[in-house]
Amino acid sequence: MNEIQAEELLQELIERVAGEVGLIIYTLKPKGEFTDEQLALELGIEINEIRKALFSLYELGIAEYKRRRDDETGWMEYYWRINYDKQLDVLKHELEKTKRKLEEKLEAETSTVYYICTNGCIKVSYEEAMELNFTCPKCGGILEYLDSSKANEKIREEIKKIEEMLQSLT
Ligand SMILES: [Zn+2]
Repeated sequence: MNEIQAEELLQELIERVAGEVGLIIYTLKPKGEFTDEQLALELGIEINEIRKALFSLYELGIAEYKRRRDDETGWMEYYWRINYDKQLDVLKHELEKTKRKLEEKLEAETSTVYYICTNGCIKVSYEEAMELNFTCPKCGGILEYLDSSKANEKIREEIKKIEEMLQSLT
């Protein structure tokens, strides 16, 4: 994966987690510290939207803040900063998380045999299908063995793709 691909992936991730406003803040590349008020004024976006996006970026590990009391107003202010040097770590962390989820899904899919209604109403385990006499309780249709080998192959491919991405990031 080259730098452009990594950047694209990161922007996708930011938009998913912190929304459009989060992506705007990230791509704005604000220098040094800023307050949410300053940013709201500069971007012409509601301060609540800005705050929400900043806290999402914080949870992602891309933004950090310090709280300081304003000398004039006496109010607590958040001074924010975007960590552009941590973005690769964030991306790696997210890819690893996705990989784990896929592995768990694969594990669940391969350890259970599923049956589905031919009309698409339900998906049940073999045991449940036996109890139901292989008849759908909703429509009375037949419960058929679900061949999930193709779906599982897709999950395996996704895992492989993520592993390759992770390797090219190190
Ligand atoms: Zn059915």
